[in-house]
Amino acid sequence: MAASELSADSDSNVPDYEYIDVNTKPFHIGSFRNEWLNRLKPSHYSYQLEDEDTFHANFAKETGIGEEMMADLKSICSLDSLRCYPEDQQPDTDLVPPDSTLRTLVQRKKRQDYKASLKISKNRHDLYADELERLAVERKPEAAADLVPEGEVILTINVYYPATYDRFSYIRPHTTLLMTGSHSLAELRDAICCVSDLQVCGEFSNTPDIVPDFISKDHYKSAFFFFEGVFYNDMRFPECQDISKTVLEWAKARNFPPYSEARMEETRFIDLKVKVGFPYLYCHQGDCEHLVIITDVRLAHKNDCIDKSLYPLLTHKHRIVTQKCAVCHVFIGRWFTTNDQFAPSDPCLFCDKCFRMLHYDTEGNKLGEFKAYPYVDRGAFN
Ligand SMILES: [Zn+2]
Ligand SMILES: [Zn+2]
Repeated sequence: MAASELSADSDSNVPDYEYIDVNTKPFHIGSFRNEWLNRLKPSHYSYQLEDEDTFHANFAKETGIGEEMMADLKSICSLDSLRCYPEDQQPDTDLVPPDSTLRTLVQRKKRQDYKASLKISKNRHDLYADELERLAVERKPEAAADLVPEGEVILTINVYYPATYDRFSYIRPHTTLLMTGSHSLAELRDAICCVSDLQVCGEFSNTPDIVPDFISKDHYKSAFFFFEGVFYNDMRFPECQDISKTVLEWAKARNFPPYSEARMEETRFIDLKVKVGFPYLYCHQGDCEHLVIITDVRLAHKNDCIDKSLYPLLTHKHRIVTQKCAVCHVFIGRWFTTNDQFAPSDPCLFCDKCFRMLHYDTEGNKLGEFKAYPYVDRGAFN
Protein backbone atom coordinates (compact mmCIF):
# COMPACT_ATOMS: atom_id res chain seq x y z
CA MET A 1 0.00 0.00 0.00
CA ALA A 2 1.56 3.27 -1.10
CA ALA A 3 1.98 5.82 1.64
CA SER A 4 0.13 8.45 -0.37
CA GLU A 5 -2.81 6.14 -0.85
CA LEU A 6 -2.94 5.55 2.88
CA SER A 7 -2.76 9.18 3.81
CA ALA A 8 -5.28 10.11 1.12
CA ASP A 9 -8.11 8.46 2.97
CA SER A 10 -6.35 8.55 6.27
CA ASP A 11 -8.60 9.07 9.22
CA SER A 12 -8.01 8.50 12.89
CA ASN A 13 -8.08 4.73 12.38
CA VAL A 14 -4.83 4.56 10.46
CA PRO A 15 -2.06 4.99 13.02
CA ASP A 16 0.26 7.90 12.47
CA TYR A 17 3.15 9.06 14.62
CA GLU A 18 2.46 11.68 17.24
CA TYR A 19 6.15 11.63 18.19
CA ILE A 20 8.39 10.02 15.59
CA ASP A 21 9.61 6.59 16.69
CA VAL A 22 7.98 7.03 20.10
CA ASN A 23 4.22 6.80 19.97
CA THR A 24 1.30 7.05 17.57
CA LYS A 25 -1.77 9.22 17.69
CA PRO A 26 -4.80 7.51 19.22
CA PHE A 27 -6.67 5.11 16.96
CA HIS A 28 -9.46 2.58 17.39
CA ILE A 29 -8.06 -0.95 17.32
CA GLY A 30 -11.18 -2.59 15.85
CA SER A 31 -11.43 -0.03 13.05
CA PHE A 32 -7.72 -0.33 12.34
CA ARG A 33 -8.20 -4.06 11.91
CA ASN A 34 -11.10 -3.45 9.52
CA GLU A 35 -8.96 -1.05 7.50
CA TRP A 36 -6.46 -3.85 6.95
CA LEU A 37 -9.09 -6.46 6.19
CA ASN A 38 -10.66 -4.15 3.58
CA ARG A 39 -7.35 -3.64 1.85
CA LEU A 40 -5.91 -7.15 1.96
CA LYS A 41 -6.99 -10.23 0.07
CA PRO A 42 -8.07 -13.06 2.40
CA SER A 43 -5.11 -15.08 1.07
CA HIS A 44 -2.76 -12.51 2.60
CA TYR A 45 -3.78 -13.32 6.15
CA SER A 46 -4.92 -16.90 5.63
CA TYR A 47 -3.18 -19.64 7.58
CA GLN A 48 -3.32 -21.91 4.51
CA LEU A 49 0.11 -22.70 3.20
CA GLU A 50 0.52 -21.79 -0.45
CA ASP A 51 1.79 -24.81 -2.37
CA GLU A 52 5.26 -24.44 -3.82
CA ASP A 53 4.23 -24.32 -7.48
CA THR A 54 1.71 -21.52 -6.89
CA PHE A 55 4.33 -19.64 -4.87
CA HIS A 56 6.86 -19.93 -7.67
CA ALA A 57 4.34 -18.99 -10.34
CA ASN A 58 3.33 -15.88 -8.33
CA PHE A 59 6.96 -15.02 -7.73
CA ALA A 60 7.77 -15.25 -11.44
CA LYS A 61 4.73 -13.15 -12.29
CA GLU A 62 5.49 -10.42 -9.75
CA THR A 63 9.17 -10.16 -10.63
CA GLY A 64 8.59 -10.63 -14.37
CA ILE A 65 11.29 -13.24 -14.94
CA GLY A 66 11.16 -15.93 -17.59
CA GLU A 67 10.81 -19.68 -17.22
CA GLU A 68 14.48 -20.41 -17.87
CA MET A 69 15.74 -17.90 -15.34
CA MET A 70 13.25 -19.25 -12.81
CA ALA A 71 14.59 -22.79 -13.28
CA ASP A 72 18.15 -21.48 -12.81
CA LEU A 73 17.21 -19.62 -9.64
CA LYS A 74 15.47 -22.66 -8.25
CA SER A 75 18.52 -24.85 -8.65
CA ILE A 76 20.98 -22.21 -7.39
CA CYS A 77 18.86 -21.35 -4.35
CA SER A 78 18.00 -24.94 -3.57
CA LEU A 79 18.94 -26.17 -0.10
CA ASP A 80 20.83 -29.03 -1.70
CA SER A 81 23.38 -26.62 -3.13
CA LEU A 82 24.33 -25.63 0.43
CA ARG A 83 25.21 -29.14 1.52
CA CYS A 84 28.87 -29.56 2.47
CA TYR A 85 28.60 -33.05 3.95
CA PRO A 86 27.77 -36.34 2.32
CA GLU A 87 24.06 -36.99 2.46
CA ASP A 88 24.34 -39.92 4.89
CA GLN A 89 26.54 -38.05 7.38
CA GLN A 90 24.94 -36.10 10.24
CA PRO A 91 27.15 -33.10 10.99
CA ASP A 92 27.55 -31.79 14.55
CA THR A 93 25.82 -28.42 14.35
CA ASP A 94 27.64 -27.10 17.45
CA LEU A 95 31.03 -27.68 15.95
CA VAL A 96 32.32 -24.60 14.12
CA PRO A 97 35.22 -25.31 11.73
CA PRO A 98 38.27 -23.46 13.13
CA ASP A 99 39.54 -22.13 9.82
CA SER A 100 36.32 -20.93 8.25
CA THR A 101 36.38 -17.76 6.15
CA LEU A 102 32.62 -17.36 6.24
CA ARG A 103 31.93 -14.28 8.37
CA THR A 104 28.92 -15.70 10.15
CA LEU A 105 30.98 -18.68 11.25
CA VAL A 106 33.87 -16.49 12.38
CA GLN A 107 31.41 -14.51 14.51
CA ARG A 108 29.86 -17.67 15.85
CA LYS A 109 33.25 -19.09 16.78
CA LYS A 110 34.11 -15.86 18.63
CA ARG A 111 30.86 -16.03 20.54
CA GLN A 112 31.37 -19.69 21.38
CA ASP A 113 34.90 -19.05 22.68
CA TYR A 114 33.67 -16.11 24.74
CA LYS A 115 30.88 -18.17 26.27
CA ALA A 116 33.28 -20.97 27.09
CA SER A 117 35.56 -18.47 28.87
CA LEU A 118 32.76 -17.34 31.22
CA LYS A 119 32.94 -18.80 34.68
CA ILE A 120 29.22 -18.80 35.38
CA SER A 121 27.03 -20.84 33.14
CA LYS A 122 23.48 -19.84 32.48
CA ASN A 123 21.06 -20.86 35.19
CA ARG A 124 17.77 -22.55 34.47
CA HIS A 125 15.86 -19.26 34.53
CA ASP A 126 17.95 -17.65 31.83
CA LEU A 127 17.87 -20.75 29.69
CA TYR A 128 14.12 -20.80 29.99
CA ALA A 129 13.83 -17.08 29.28
CA ASP A 130 15.62 -17.58 25.97
CA GLU A 131 13.31 -20.41 25.10
CA LEU A 132 10.15 -18.55 26.05
CA GLU A 133 9.55 -16.75 22.79
CA ARG A 134 10.45 -19.75 20.66
CA LEU A 135 8.22 -22.20 22.48
CA ALA A 136 5.01 -20.91 20.99
CA VAL A 137 6.10 -20.17 17.43
CA GLU A 138 3.74 -21.74 14.91
CA ARG A 139 1.85 -23.61 17.64
CA LYS A 140 -1.36 -25.04 16.22
CA PRO A 141 -4.34 -25.87 18.44
CA GLU A 142 -5.43 -29.44 19.09
CA ALA A 143 -9.13 -28.55 19.04
CA ALA A 144 -10.49 -26.58 16.09
CA ALA A 145 -12.40 -24.35 18.52
CA ASP A 146 -9.09 -23.09 19.90
CA LEU A 147 -7.95 -21.66 16.60
CA VAL A 148 -7.25 -17.93 16.65
CA PRO A 149 -9.56 -16.79 13.80
CA GLU A 150 -7.90 -15.57 10.60
CA GLY A 151 -7.82 -11.80 10.54
CA GLU A 152 -7.71 -11.53 14.35
CA VAL A 153 -5.47 -8.81 15.78
CA ILE A 154 -2.59 -9.62 18.09
CA LEU A 155 -1.32 -7.01 20.52
CA THR A 156 2.09 -6.95 22.14
CA ILE A 157 1.81 -5.53 25.64
CA ASN A 158 4.62 -4.63 28.01
CA VAL A 159 3.72 -4.47 31.68
CA TYR A 160 6.39 -2.70 33.74
CA TYR A 161 7.25 -3.28 37.37
CA PRO A 162 6.46 -0.48 39.80
CA ALA A 163 9.53 1.72 40.24
CA THR A 164 9.87 1.08 43.94
CA TYR A 165 13.47 -0.09 43.79
CA ASP A 166 16.34 2.31 43.18
CA ARG A 167 17.82 -0.27 40.88
CA PHE A 168 14.75 -0.08 38.66
CA SER A 169 15.49 3.53 37.83
CA TYR A 170 18.21 2.34 35.48
CA ILE A 171 16.60 -0.68 33.92
CA ARG A 172 13.03 -1.25 32.92
CA PRO A 173 12.03 -4.69 34.05
CA HIS A 174 8.84 -5.85 32.47
CA THR A 175 6.93 -8.80 31.19
CA THR A 176 5.73 -8.97 27.62
CA LEU A 177 2.40 -10.56 26.79
CA LEU A 178 0.69 -11.27 23.50
CA MET A 179 -3.09 -10.92 23.57
CA THR A 180 -5.76 -11.08 20.91
CA GLY A 181 -8.25 -8.35 20.10
CA SER A 182 -11.10 -10.34 21.59
CA HIS A 183 -9.47 -10.55 25.02
CA SER A 184 -10.95 -8.32 27.68
CA LEU A 185 -8.96 -6.00 29.91
CA ALA A 186 -9.93 -8.21 32.85
CA GLU A 187 -8.07 -11.07 31.16
CA LEU A 188 -5.02 -8.85 30.93
CA ARG A 189 -5.37 -8.06 34.61
CA ASP A 190 -5.50 -11.76 35.48
CA ALA A 191 -2.37 -12.40 33.44
CA ILE A 192 -0.34 -9.77 35.30
CA CYS A 193 1.69 -11.35 38.09
CA CYS A 194 2.60 -8.88 40.79
CA VAL A 195 3.96 -9.75 44.19
CA SER A 196 1.79 -7.16 45.95
CA ASP A 197 -1.22 -9.39 45.18
CA LEU A 198 0.37 -12.12 47.31
CA GLN A 199 1.17 -10.22 50.49
CA VAL A 200 -0.32 -11.30 53.78
CA CYS A 201 -0.78 -8.42 56.18
CA GLY A 202 -0.31 -8.71 59.92
CA GLU A 203 2.03 -9.54 62.77
CA PHE A 204 2.25 -13.26 63.59
CA SER A 205 5.10 -13.75 66.06
CA ASN A 206 2.78 -15.40 68.61
CA THR A 207 1.04 -17.65 66.10
CA PRO A 208 3.42 -18.38 63.22
CA ASP A 209 1.51 -21.57 62.37
CA ILE A 210 -1.78 -19.87 61.71
CA VAL A 211 -0.83 -17.28 59.15
CA PRO A 212 -4.07 -16.86 57.22
CA ASP A 213 -4.19 -18.14 53.68
CA PHE A 214 -5.85 -14.96 52.49
CA ILE A 215 -3.57 -13.00 50.28
CA SER A 216 -4.10 -9.38 49.33
CA LYS A 217 -5.64 -10.39 46.01
CA ASP A 218 -8.51 -12.09 47.88
CA HIS A 219 -9.09 -9.09 50.11
CA TYR A 220 -8.62 -6.17 47.79
CA LYS A 221 -10.00 -7.04 44.39
CA SER A 222 -10.36 -3.54 43.03
CA ALA A 223 -8.12 -2.37 40.22
CA PHE A 224 -8.22 -0.22 37.12
CA PHE A 225 -6.53 0.38 33.81
CA PHE A 226 -6.28 3.89 32.47
CA PHE A 227 -6.30 4.32 28.68
CA GLU A 228 -6.94 7.60 26.86
CA GLY A 229 -8.93 9.41 29.54
CA VAL A 230 -11.00 6.36 30.54
CA PHE A 231 -10.67 4.44 33.80
CA TYR A 232 -11.52 0.78 33.24
CA ASN A 233 -12.46 -0.60 36.65
CA ASP A 234 -12.57 -4.24 37.63
CA MET A 235 -16.14 -4.73 38.91
CA ARG A 236 -16.39 -8.51 38.54
CA PHE A 237 -16.86 -9.21 42.25
CA PRO A 238 -19.29 -7.74 44.77
CA GLU A 239 -16.34 -6.55 46.90
CA CYS A 240 -14.94 -4.51 44.04
CA GLN A 241 -14.95 -0.78 44.52
CA ASP A 242 -14.64 1.94 41.98
CA ILE A 243 -11.18 3.08 43.04
CA SER A 244 -10.92 5.55 40.18
CA LYS A 245 -13.61 7.70 41.81
CA THR A 246 -11.13 9.65 43.94
CA VAL A 247 -9.15 10.69 40.88
CA LEU A 248 -12.27 11.50 38.89
CA GLU A 249 -13.62 13.77 41.62
CA TRP A 250 -10.25 15.35 42.19
CA ALA A 251 -9.92 16.11 38.49
CA LYS A 252 -13.46 17.42 38.25
CA ALA A 253 -12.92 19.82 41.14
CA ARG A 254 -9.84 21.23 39.39
CA ASN A 255 -11.31 21.70 35.93
CA PHE A 256 -9.28 18.97 34.30
CA PRO A 257 -10.56 17.63 30.99
CA PRO A 258 -13.38 15.22 31.76
CA TYR A 259 -12.39 11.61 32.43
CA SER A 260 -14.87 8.79 32.11
CA GLU A 261 -15.13 5.24 33.41
CA ALA A 262 -16.04 1.82 32.10
CA ARG A 263 -15.72 -1.78 33.22
CA MET A 264 -12.61 -3.72 32.32
CA GLU A 265 -14.48 -7.02 32.09
CA GLU A 266 -16.78 -5.53 29.44
CA THR A 267 -14.04 -3.96 27.37
CA ARG A 268 -12.20 -5.91 24.72
CA PHE A 269 -9.00 -4.64 23.14
CA ILE A 270 -10.82 -4.37 19.85
CA ASP A 271 -13.09 -1.73 21.47
CA LEU A 272 -10.22 0.38 22.73
CA LYS A 273 -8.86 3.61 21.38
CA VAL A 274 -5.15 3.80 22.18
CA LYS A 275 -1.79 5.15 21.18
CA VAL A 276 0.81 2.52 20.38
CA GLY A 277 4.04 3.14 22.32
CA PHE A 278 2.37 5.37 24.89
CA PRO A 279 2.60 4.65 28.62
CA TYR A 280 -0.75 3.88 30.23
CA LEU A 281 -1.50 2.77 33.77
CA TYR A 282 -2.51 -0.35 35.66
CA CYS A 283 -3.25 0.25 39.33
CA HIS A 284 -4.11 -2.40 41.92
CA GLN A 285 -3.77 -2.97 45.66
CA GLY A 286 -4.51 0.71 46.15
CA ASP A 287 -1.19 2.14 45.07
CA CYS A 288 0.73 -0.51 43.19
CA GLU A 289 1.10 1.25 39.85
CA HIS A 290 2.44 -0.35 36.71
CA LEU A 291 3.05 1.30 33.38
CA VAL A 292 1.45 -0.57 30.50
CA ILE A 293 2.66 0.03 26.96
CA ILE A 294 1.10 -1.49 23.87
CA THR A 295 4.07 -1.81 21.57
CA ASP A 296 2.47 -3.48 18.56
CA VAL A 297 -0.93 -4.13 16.99
CA ARG A 298 -1.01 -6.43 13.97
CA LEU A 299 -2.94 -9.18 12.23
CA ALA A 300 -2.32 -12.80 13.20
CA HIS A 301 0.01 -14.64 10.83
CA LYS A 302 0.38 -18.35 10.15
CA ASN A 303 3.80 -18.29 11.84
CA ASP A 304 2.25 -16.98 15.08
CA CYS A 305 1.05 -19.19 17.85
CA ILE A 306 -2.54 -19.71 16.66
CA ASP A 307 -3.65 -21.79 19.63
CA LYS A 308 -6.09 -19.53 21.46
CA SER A 309 -5.79 -21.54 24.67
CA LEU A 310 -2.16 -20.42 25.09
CA TYR A 311 -3.09 -16.75 25.20
CA PRO A 312 -2.38 -14.40 27.00
CA LEU A 313 0.99 -15.60 25.81
CA LEU A 314 4.02 -14.69 27.88
CA THR A 315 7.01 -13.99 25.63
CA HIS A 316 9.34 -12.15 27.96
CA LYS A 317 9.76 -12.23 31.71
CA HIS A 318 12.21 -10.20 33.74
CA ARG A 319 13.89 -12.18 36.47
CA ILE A 320 14.47 -10.57 39.84
CA VAL A 321 17.23 -11.63 42.20
CA THR A 322 15.64 -13.26 45.22
CA GLN A 323 16.35 -12.09 48.77
CA LYS A 324 17.98 -14.85 50.77
CA CYS A 325 17.73 -15.67 54.46
CA ALA A 326 20.15 -13.62 56.60
CA VAL A 327 21.24 -16.73 58.51
CA CYS A 328 21.72 -19.55 56.01
CA HIS A 329 22.00 -17.44 52.84
CA VAL A 330 20.56 -20.41 50.99
CA PHE A 331 16.79 -20.26 51.14
CA ILE A 332 14.50 -17.47 50.01
CA GLY A 333 13.19 -15.23 52.81
CA ARG A 334 9.76 -16.10 54.17
CA TRP A 335 9.64 -13.94 57.33
CA PHE A 336 10.93 -10.57 58.31
CA THR A 337 11.27 -9.45 61.89
CA THR A 338 11.56 -6.11 63.64
CA ASN A 339 12.68 -5.22 67.19
CA ASP A 340 14.32 -8.62 67.18
CA GLN A 341 16.97 -9.28 69.81
CA PHE A 342 18.26 -12.32 67.86
CA ALA A 343 18.62 -10.57 64.53
CA PRO A 344 21.77 -9.03 63.09
CA SER A 345 19.75 -6.22 61.49
CA ASP A 346 16.40 -4.50 61.79
CA PRO A 347 14.36 -5.49 59.84
CA CYS A 348 15.83 -8.90 59.20
CA LEU A 349 14.88 -11.57 56.69
CA PHE A 350 14.69 -15.30 57.54
CA CYS A 351 13.76 -18.49 55.76
CA ASP A 352 11.06 -20.48 57.50
CA LYS A 353 13.48 -23.00 58.98
CA CYS A 354 15.99 -20.52 60.41
CA PHE A 355 13.18 -18.28 61.66
CA ARG A 356 11.63 -21.07 63.71
CA MET A 357 14.92 -22.50 64.98
CA LEU A 358 16.02 -19.12 66.24
CA HIS A 359 12.79 -17.77 67.67
CA TYR A 360 10.92 -20.73 69.17
CA ASP A 361 11.78 -23.61 71.49
CA THR A 362 11.10 -27.24 70.58
CA GLU A 363 7.53 -26.94 71.88
CA GLY A 364 6.96 -23.97 69.63
CA ASN A 365 6.97 -21.38 72.43
CA LYS A 366 8.08 -17.91 71.46
CA LEU A 367 11.51 -16.93 72.78
CA GLY A 368 12.31 -13.33 73.56
CA GLU A 369 10.75 -10.23 72.10
CA PHE A 370 10.31 -9.57 68.40
CA LYS A 371 7.66 -8.90 65.81
CA ALA A 372 7.29 -11.20 62.82
CA TYR A 373 5.65 -10.56 59.45
CA PRO A 374 5.19 -12.97 56.55
CA TYR A 375 7.30 -11.97 53.57
CA VAL A 376 6.69 -12.77 49.92
CA ASP A 377 9.75 -12.43 47.75
CA ARG A 378 9.63 -10.37 44.56
CA GLY A 379 11.14 -13.29 42.76
CA ALA A 380 8.10 -15.43 43.58
CA PHE A 381 7.16 -15.45 39.87
CA ASN A 382 10.63 -16.27 38.54
ZN1 LIG B 1 1.60 -4.48 41.32
ZN1 LIG C 1 17.75 -19.73 56.53
